[in-house]
Amino acid sequence: MIKFCNLFSGSSGNSTYIETDTTKILIDAGVSCTRIVKALESLGVSFSDIDAILITHEHTDHTKGLTTIAKKFNIPIYATEKTWSQMCSLNVCDSCKYTFTPDKNFEIGDANIHPFSIPHDAIDPCGFSILSDGKKITVATDIGHVEERLITEMTGSDILLIESNYDTDTLFCGAYPYFLKKRIASDVGHLSNESTSKLVKTLYENGVTKFILGHLSKENNFPELAYQTVLNELNSSTLNVPFHLSVAGRDTVDDILEIV
Ligand SMILES: [Zn+2]
Ligand SMILES: [Zn+2]
Repeated sequence: MIKFCNLFSGSSGNSTYIETDTTKILIDAGVSCTRIVKALESLGVSFSDIDAILITHEHTDHTKGLTTIAKKFNIPIYATEKTWSQMCSLNVCDSCKYTFTPDKNFEIGDANIHPFSIPHDAIDPCGFSILSDGKKITVATDIGHVEERLITEMTGSDILLIESNYDTDTLFCGAYPYFLKKRIASDVGHLSNESTSKLVKTLYENGVTKFILGHLSKENNFPELAYQTVLNELNSSTLNVPFHLSVAGRDTVDDILEIV
């Protein structure tokens, strides 16, 4: 059995909860410690029961809560060495610092963690697949563009949280300065709804059926638009297999998805 619950998702902060038979893991802590504590409490989980926090990369929307978390709870926090080198200002004590290497699996309790590199403008950004009891959950946000190897990484996932960051027209007609628009749409920025929809269709035809769209931009996207863009693409497939498609809540704790 493996449980998945999105706590926070979007450019304003990200945190995902994953629970296996004996292990409780957070991926990212991009909102305040207090908000994560409350979100976990709403699931009946105490923060002190969390076994580890995995960090995808150093950007604030993934790391904001770490300073307080490290001070209040003595929880192992895993990041790559390069990512730690960019997080000095967070003042995380050494006893909480754990490292991993991209593409090298490691164990936390009964969970096997597979970190894989993603193209994004951070020093050493990663996505994660959590494998336990023959199940696989993948969390992949902050992806500048889709590479063939990423399709391989995501194939076989029982649940996939995938970024659908921006609508291209909304981004380029919006108020962001031009350099920021270029950065977001670049090969090391974020995925557009259109790119995500094509990736999701490919993965669906490879056998993945549960998709959660996440890390939506508040300014350059709309949940309904992201959902509809991906839904249209899925519906254009000749496959007739039922699927789950939803949009991760920005600030609301989503329902727990359970894979048994
Ligand atoms: Zn980022
Ligand atoms: Zn981000």
